Amino acid sequence: MSSGFSIRDSIPSYAEDDCAEALFAAKWPDGFRCPRCSHAHYYDIASRRRRLFECRSCSHQTSLTAGTALEGTRTPLAKWFKAMYLMQFGISAVLLAELICVTYKTAWLINHKLRHVIGEQDRARPLEGSLQLLGEYYGYEYHRYFSDKLVHGALKPQPIVIGASLDAAGGGRSSQNEGRRRS
Ligand SMILES: [Zn+2]
Repeated sequence: MSSGFSIRDSIPSYAEDDCAEALFAAKWPDGFRCPRCSHAHYYDIASRRRRLFECRSCSHQTSLTAGTALEGTRTPLAKWFKAMYLMQFGISAVLLAELICVTYKTAWLINHKLRHVIGEQDRARPLEGSLQLLGEYYGYEYHRYFSDKLVHGALKPQPIVIGASLDAAGGGRSSQNEGRRRS
């Protein structure tokens, strides 16, 4: 990262419809499937702020976020997508709240839920074979990129251990990290 790097300026802008489309494709890559009876056709119900899908066979209603970390959220999908992008920087809930314009409580919840699902993914794919481990402190870097005192007050370096499985040639094949970070 160059010294001019700014997380704030790097955040992509997402259209709400594009986010919904991406969720649909991730959830039903082969087209809609009723989670209850596997029927492939639905009625589109524009109820409340979220789109609902009603199965034409059993009338079961489901949504794009049902069964995901986003279930029940009232926060726009675009903000969740920005938060997902920002996860790579391991930022605090205070900074997340500021960057995606939500309350601290909402940012804390988003951070918590996203970390939880990432952790679940990592646990499902444990590292194996030859490992390379690195102990580090996370958070120092960001002090250099932000000058506002909010950020200085909010970021505290946190110890983490980063590990990677090595392939036969000694190159990294996959990586994970474990750590305790304050949100
Ligand atoms: Zn059904």
